[in-house]
Amino acid sequence: MATGIFNKLRRSSTGKLPADFQRILDLMQGNIHNQPDEDLLFRAYEFAKTAHQGQMRKSGEPYFTHCVAVATILAEMHLDSTTIAAALMHDVVEDTGFTVEDVEASFGKDVAQLVDGVTKLSDIKFRSEEDKQAVNFRKMLLSVAEDIRTIIIKFADRLHNMQTIDSLPDVKARRIARETRDVYAPLAHRLGMYRLRSEMEDLVFKVLEPKAYQELSKSVPKRQSEFEAYIKNFLVPVRERIEAAGIKVEYHSRFKNYHSIHRKMVDQKRPLKDIYDIFAIRIIVEKLEDCYSVLGFVHSFYPPIQSRFKDFIATPKANGYQSLHTTVVSTGGRPVEVQIRTAEMDQTAEEGVAAHWRYKENNTDGGKRHRDDLDAHVSWLRNLVDILQNEDSTTSHQFMDMLKIDLYKNEIFVFTPKGDVRILPVGATPLDFAFDIHSQVGLHCIGAKVNGKIIPLNTHLKSGDSLEIITSDHQTPNVAWLKYVNTSKAKTIIRKWAKKQEFDHSVKLGQDILERELRRLRLSKEAKNIRHSFTDMGYESEEKMLAAIGAGHRTITSLLNKLYPDLSFTPPKVQKDPNESFFRRARKNTKGVAIAGIDNMMISFGKCCNPIPGDPIIGFITRGRGVTVHRADCDTVGPNLSEKERLIEVQWGNEKNQTFLVRLKVMAQDRKHFIRDITERISSFDVNIESLQMKAEEDLVIGLIVLEVDGVRQLEKIRNRIQMVDGVMSVDRE
Ligand code: MN
Repeated sequence: MATGIFNKLRRSSTGKLPADFQRILDLMQGNIHNQPDEDLLFRAYEFAKTAHQGQMRKSGEPYFTHCVAVATILAEMHLDSTTIAAALMHDVVEDTGFTVEDVEASFGKDVAQLVDGVTKLSDIKFRSEEDKQAVNFRKMLLSVAEDIRTIIIKFADRLHNMQTIDSLPDVKARRIARETRDVYAPLAHRLGMYRLRSEMEDLVFKVLEPKAYQELSKSVPKRQSEFEAYIKNFLVPVRERIEAAGIKVEYHSRFKNYHSIHRKMVDQKRPLKDIYDIFAIRIIVEKLEDCYSVLGFVHSFYPPIQSRFKDFIATPKANGYQSLHTTVVSTGGRPVEVQIRTAEMDQTAEEGVAAHWRYKENNTDGGKRHRDDLDAHVSWLRNLVDILQNEDSTTSHQFMDMLKIDLYKNEIFVFTPKGDVRILPVGATPLDFAFDIHSQVGLHCIGAKVNGKIIPLNTHLKSGDSLEIITSDHQTPNVAWLKYVNTSKAKTIIRKWAKKQEFDHSVKLGQDILERELRRLRLSKEAKNIRHSFTDMGYESEEKMLAAIGAGHRTITSLLNKLYPDLSFTPPKVQKDPNESFFRRARKNTKGVAIAGIDNMMISFGKCCNPIPGDPIIGFITRGRGVTVHRADCDTVGPNLSEKERLIEVQWGNEKNQTFLVRLKVMAQDRKHFIRDITERISSFDVNIESLQMKAEEDLVIGLIVLEVDGVRQLEKIRNRIQMVDGVMSVDRE
């Protein structure tokens, strides 16, 4: 057992724990409500140390020093043992051979989940400098990290990396600094972690504007000592008054960080010596009511500037910040800012969300209460976001985009193989992802891997999924994909592709028709002439003209007649299949066939069942020839069909009150007045008879009746009525 190792080591040679480990424990002791779990922590310490054995940082130090440093930062913030154990092991999964399962086996689910969360966050790279990407990244951080402690560990990790950034090459250092500025610092601000944000900002400033930073690091300390003397004088009367009232307080003078001072100098276009509001006096009291007493004392000596007074105790800031702020006029007319708050408010102000663990951790009930805490935390975060949306200060405006975090709501965040983040709507599939990457990736997509495993293209993706799209040059989309995609981008591209496909098909067909017709007319040498005179024919391009021929909108003879108005060309007399012409006529009545919402795709009609408008129909996706439309009850697409996934829903593009042509084949025994009887029956329905042909064979009569009906139901009624006519043997749809 690991506990055994711990005891053994503890008793070993000197009987002392390693100094860096002892320091973590000592810092944690500062929180009397949350005693460190020494066993857990030491096992984590040993585990990480062994796992990173032999690895070095860029600085030449053992890698493990980084792990200890991150844990130490968190111990200073009084985070709980679970978090600090996870912090010690935060790079184990990322950088060593151990897996999350290994961590879970030795340290349990809570620790393992935190390590896993931090590892996931580390997978994400933030490349683009676009602000949009930064906003997305922050949103993603929040959504991927189910446990806010994951982000806190990540903050500590980032802080230490920034503290030791000098050993990195300049380009890389600047990239990390920008990422810290755009992503981590604003998020720390949002989570109320003032101290962390402030330190990050200065480290960023140092990397990105080294000259300005150097200058300030020389001049600010001088100015600070000047101010300190001033503050001391300022406080003399206040101090006496507070002591007389018997209120216990602590005084701190608080200077703005270099980054903020620099910004003030730039904004106010003034040198450092002319800037006064770079510090604040902070008075920390024990009890809430003392805050207001002390405020009164300060105001009794120095007149407050009314507009600068803020009571964040009565109305806390959205990130939980509470304090009284007042700016008073001191000797010489200088403004001095005084902040008054309790010790607890001070901790919340400095540590923000991290301060939460200072008072609340309790592991004695198997972690249940702990989980409740986390739930409370997530809702806290949600509330925070809600409140932020109502806040109307300028600062919050800058973060407006971030405030709009639809926490876990309508968006998911998935990763490219390179770790870039893509935002997709809930319900998005690998195809949506592929089209989001690039239209060509989508159009040639043949499969997808999620987290290394091949999945069907219609799988709904989840936040945190890491996707790889498999493409092939030979792959082309098919219209069935429209069922699998949920983004308008993907739909648009597929539809566009289908249109283009149809167009290309028409062009090719047009070319064939042109050549064949000219050959028939023995005018083959006219081909060039016709092709070149597309403008005269009224087309924007040769292709468009050919497409018009292919689609049957233009005949070759009409082109020739236009080209040679003096000559006269006659269209060929074709032997038309009379059946075919009926179907064509019948189908012409409608607006064609709509496939999953697209009109007039490349379609053909099954010769097996000859569907006509009004029939329930279904589409079958052919290889390369678009969609074949069958009657829904056609045997071809019936239960024996092996490739069910190639079926697609289709509808007639009907308008309301549309009528349809149908043809009935009637077989009957020949007799007198048969035709009269039939027509009488039909006319009782108030439908048009388009044509009626009767052919007698021996003593049978075969009739073909073309009717204009308003739907399949009316047709059925008519059929039944004809069926009852004397002598009729069968009435069938054709
Ligand atoms: Mn790290």
